[in-house]
Amino acid sequence: MKLDAKIPEGPLAEKWSKHKFNLKLVNPSNKRKYTVIVVGTGLAGSSAAASLAELGYNVKAFCYQDSPRRAHSIAAQGGINAAKNYRNDGDSVQRLFYDTIKGGDYRSREGNVYRLAEVSVNIIDQCVAQGVPFAREYGGLLDNRSFGGAQVSRTFYARGQTGQQLLLGAYSALNRQIHEGKVEMFSRHEMLDVVTVDGKAQGIIARNLVTGEIETHAAHAVLLCTGGYGNVYYLSTNAMGCNVTAAWRAHKRGAFFSNPCFTQIHPTCIPVSGDHQSKLTLMSESLRNDGRVWVPKTKELAAQLREGKIKATDLKEDERDYFLERKYPSFGNLVPRDVASRNAKEMVDEGKGVGTSGVAVYLDFADAISRLGEDAVRAKYGNLFDMYYQITDENPYKQPMRIYPAVHYTMGGLWVDYNLQTTVPGLYALGEANFSDHGANRLGASALMQGLADGYFVIPYTLGDYLATIGPKAIDVNHPAFTETKKAVEERLQKLLSLKGSKTVDEYHRELGKIMWEYCGMSRSEEGLKKAKKLIQDLKADFWKNAIVLGTNEEFNMSLEKAGRVADFIELGELMIDDALDRNESCGGHFRVESQTEEGEALRDDEKFAYVAAWQYTGENKPEALHKEDLKFENVKLSQRSYK
Ligand SMILES: Cc1cc2nc3c(=O)[nH]c(=O)nc-3n(C[C@H](O)[C@H](O)[C@H](O)COP(=O)(O)OP(=O)(O)OC[C@H]3O[C@@H](n4cnc5c(N)ncnc54)[C@H](O)[C@@H]3O)c2cc1C
Repeated sequence: MKLDAKIPEGPLAEKWSKHKFNLKLVNPSNKRKYTVIVVGTGLAGSSAAASLAELGYNVKAFCYQDSPRRAHSIAAQGGINAAKNYRNDGDSVQRLFYDTIKGGDYRSREGNVYRLAEVSVNIIDQCVAQGVPFAREYGGLLDNRSFGGAQVSRTFYARGQTGQQLLLGAYSALNRQIHEGKVEMFSRHEMLDVVTVDGKAQGIIARNLVTGEIETHAAHAVLLCTGGYGNVYYLSTNAMGCNVTAAWRAHKRGAFFSNPCFTQIHPTCIPVSGDHQSKLTLMSESLRNDGRVWVPKTKELAAQLREGKIKATDLKEDERDYFLERKYPSFGNLVPRDVASRNAKEMVDEGKGVGTSGVAVYLDFADAISRLGEDAVRAKYGNLFDMYYQITDENPYKQPMRIYPAVHYTMGGLWVDYNLQTTVPGLYALGEANFSDHGANRLGASALMQGLADGYFVIPYTLGDYLATIGPKAIDVNHPAFTETKKAVEERLQKLLSLKGSKTVDEYHRELGKIMWEYCGMSRSEEGLKKAKKLIQDLKADFWKNAIVLGTNEEFNMSLEKAGRVADFIELGELMIDDALDRNESCGGHFRVESQTEEGEALRDDEKFAYVAAWQYTGENKPEALHKEDLKFENVKLSQRSYK
């Protein structure tokens, strides 16, 4: 199968407008004859469901939480990018486009990224109109702060709760449509399969998580807005429920999975504190606006700190190494996440790590507090400081925070074309669930932007084109494909329930996470990846023999839910390893030790690897087939990324 990304011809800045004009439209009075399923009600799903319903389509929306408002998007802290140039500091659509392409280490599509930058400005207007309380300056204008990989301030924020406020905005729009009867909301429902008829997506199979009933739902198109899969690493900053099941089951029905190994490891998280931990906590990147990252200059001082013989505040200026400022004078503490994370690891590997475990570096606000005053710092970051204090029992106003990189976001996801359609006609992927815009490293504050761009401003246009093509004829829920897919789902659930071994599903998840972190985490090598592949295959075989799944299907059964998700994570883990093995170059967050510059930076190989990897499922325990979408760069020059 030849991948066609459907990027419109013509100059970059005109592609989207021309494309919008060329797309087919659905007559307003015909829209009510169509039904669209939206799985997921985070920022991508809520915005899509609300916008499509507002246009007149009938929408069925699904989420596994008890309310759409609890989607993981609610956790987003730092902000959302937009090229508004309110600061008059040189920002523009072109600059946001350029920063994003460069930040992603030249592994994303020019056409998509330009469109993202272009619609970013509309997102802010849309959200303000919904009443999202973005931070404002004294004069009333919206305030901005800086995020990594940019030298302008373009990040709009609502204290450290930007995702929450944006989701409340999108949720209000969604609720309005629920009230109007245009959206039917199915909370506590987990999509377990996609139904395809003649190769087109025409519905889903979902489990009612309260009663266990397996339901079939038909529609003219299915949108997966189901978020990222960072929890394949077990420990991550993602919400505990985040999983890959929807995307993975769609993958098994023909949707290609792209760049699965591209994982973002965020530099500023609260370090792991022990073996019993099941969750990591992010300290927003916004903190790097004012916090300075450092370690002691010598291993001896680091050892004394670890042993508690001295305190961080005892160290004089010339005993500290502000390593990001030293190595990257232009961007300093605001280098992109992949660069900041790798440098923190390097310091720890050199024996300069701090905290009792020695696996942490400092993020210090002493300068900012003496320059701006404690109240000003509290006004900007108060809730993050409180969170840090509650978790660590250390006061970050008085001593530096301890931070260390942790898995945070997945750039990989379902392959989509410019219209956000997967390789299965009628099946779309939006938000973090697709691979589309961030290449090998996402810039901070760009995920919220992308999710809302997809939902509010892209899918309302592109979906109409597909719907107009297939026509409004009702979809038959009695088609044998629905019965067969439902049966397959039921059989899998029974197979899981029949597991009566001795190891809990959580134990398998933790083991998988350890393998992934060690061999497919911040650095990857051929030898390690090959070893990991074998370990994961063994883990999978063991899971289906020795796992224990409690209870029955006909009840609220979290043991069953988790088992299905972990089984999918194990399979995904193997594909991530294959992808990381195949990409024998370093780019962005994907760091192959075999491919680095003399200074230890990621070294791309554009000759061989300037493509999007798109993996096709070929059957149980069979190697997946790799398809390559070549990336064309006509507007930016490929160069070694430098933030010095
Ligand atoms: C701690 C943290 C802070 C962050 N801060 C920022 C930030 O400041 N700025 C920024 O740009 N990005 C940030 N991000 C990233 C950003 O929050 C996410 O990428 C984004 O919110 C994802 O939105 P989404 O709509 O794609 O998915 P989600 O918000 O994850 O929503 C997924 C939805 O899919 C549903 N779902 C999933 N599977 C199924 C299934 N099988 N059946 C039914 N429903 C299903 C869920 O119920 C949920 O409704 C942060 C991430 C983390 C972890």
